[in-house]
Formats: sequence, C-alpha cells, structure tokens
Amino acid sequence: MTYHLFELKRVTARKRHKCIWCGQSIQPGEAYEREKSVYDGNFQNHNWHPECQEDAQQCWKDGGDQEFTAYSADRPEKKEEITT
Ligand SMILES: [Zn+2]
Repeated sequence: MTYHLFELKRVTARKRHKCIWCGQSIQPGEAYEREKSVYDGNFQNHNWHPECQEDAQQCWKDGGDQEFTAYSADRPEKKEEITT
C-alpha cells in the first residue's frame, strides 16, 4: 500500500462534519483536523476530532494496521486541558 499525506491541518468547522475515526459529528465552531491524502491511488479527504487523530497516530505507532474501518473506532476521552 502507498500512503501520502498532503496536508493535516487544524481548522475550525464552519458546518457539521463527521469524524472518520469514531463517526460522531463535529459541530460548527469546533476545532477539527482536516486530512488530505492519497491512499493506494485514491484521494481521500478526512475529518477528525483532534483527540481521534491523536488516538489513531498512537495506534499506528504501536504497530496497528494503517487500514482502518471508517466510523468504527471509539472516540477517546477528551484530554483535560492542562492549565497552570
Ligand atoms: Zn472522532
């Protein structure tokens, strides 16, 4: 398989999106990660909750399969913002 990432950018949602990882909606005004990439010659445009993108990265780092079933993962607990 070939995977090429063009862009992974944190943007603010202007309309409702669906997270590719957990399938839950991303609400307007919420920050999300927008991914533009090519996987095996197919252009893909994915939207992620920031915590879902982190979860996926962690999963892949641990040797998990890069190929995943869309909308099938659990949305991880939102990490507490660390304030000093
Ligand atoms: Zn998600």
